Amino acid sequence: MMNGDELDTRQACVSCGAAVEPFWVLADRPYCRECVTRAGGAELGQVIHPLVENVQLGCGMAIVTALWSGLVLTLTMSGVLVLMFLAINFFGFMARPVPLQQFGEQLARVLPLFGGFTFAFIGVIGFPLSLFSRQTKSASQLSISEGSLIVNNRFVVLPLSECAWATPQTLAADDGGCYLPKTRVIVISSTNPKSPGNYACGFTDETYRIWKTFLTLERVPFKAPGSPKVWCIWLAGGASIGSLLGSLVGFGAGELIGKPAAVIAFGFAGFLDGVLWGVLRAMVATTSTEILRRSLGDPATFNWRQATLTALAGFALGFKSGAMLGFTAGVVTGLLNSVIGLLLYWNVSRAMADRFQTTQAFPDTDSAELR
Ligand SMILES: [Zn+2]
Repeated sequence: MMNGDELDTRQACVSCGAAVEPFWVLADRPYCRECVTRAGGAELGQVIHPLVENVQLGCGMAIVTALWSGLVLTLTMSGVLVLMFLAINFFGFMARPVPLQQFGEQLARVLPLFGGFTFAFIGVIGFPLSLFSRQTKSASQLSISEGSLIVNNRFVVLPLSECAWATPQTLAADDGGCYLPKTRVIVISSTNPKSPGNYACGFTDETYRIWKTFLTLERVPFKAPGSPKVWCIWLAGGASIGSLLGSLVGFGAGELIGKPAAVIAFGFAGFLDGVLWGVLRAMVATTSTEILRRSLGDPATFNWRQATLTALAGFALGFKSGAMLGFTAGVVTGLLNSVIGLLLYWNVSRAMADRFQTTQAFPDTDSAELR
């Protein structure tokens, strides 16, 4: 009988299942010393309390953060528009070549004006929007209860099985916007496409370590921070290969039908195709396979819905570009572009299948799971 009573007071560690005295009891979940040590939380000593964090940025800090977020948002969006403006100008130049110096002088005159107006125009919306979303969309309290992440007093209840987490290195952001550079936080994201959301936590040194240890112990998938270099390579590569191939085809087609403007239409369609392909390849290269599987499905089984959507989007994009040369030309470019879309889709799912295979061979390299 004595033995039986003693066993009853011992709770099994929920991470490894060993029936030993718990070292941490976090949000009513007991963990043994060995598991806590392996997850990196031993330095904090014994921790026995509910897991709750109240996020208080302070009024001044909240405004500075929101202004910074507005600046990042405005710069990014106007940067994309300036890039598209440059691309259109380039294709225009290829359709109607002028002396290079004249082209450069023209661009130097127009570009600062275009950039300035774009920044001001987007900023008028971007800055107030950032102040508003920092106030309304960022979580003020995060806690864990019965295997779920609770945001703002049950405003959002997200099962941990539908979560992933990240420790962003360059620019941390949640639904409220970005944080100042070098702000060290953990961002928990929903992997359920039906209830998207990103919530930052771990603002103090202690809460950062507690969340990190807890998420590791619970085997919540870890999203490795996407390397900006990988993104730059795929985006720049996709945009330039797409533009080049598109304008070459457009140049040939323009000669054939006697409409030099075809190079603009085809070049720009190629540019957009290339950028989209670059985005997808960068996502596949930088996202953890667990999250890829949850959001895009298994590449081993052919996904008719995704393929049909890709073909339709490709047709729409091609039709829009070709329609400036006439309806029939629009249909032809639309069909051509939907085939290109399917080929790119096939390439992306091949890349994904490759990643899944490598991860199955070396499971430990992909996530923060400790086995
Ligand atoms: Zn354990």
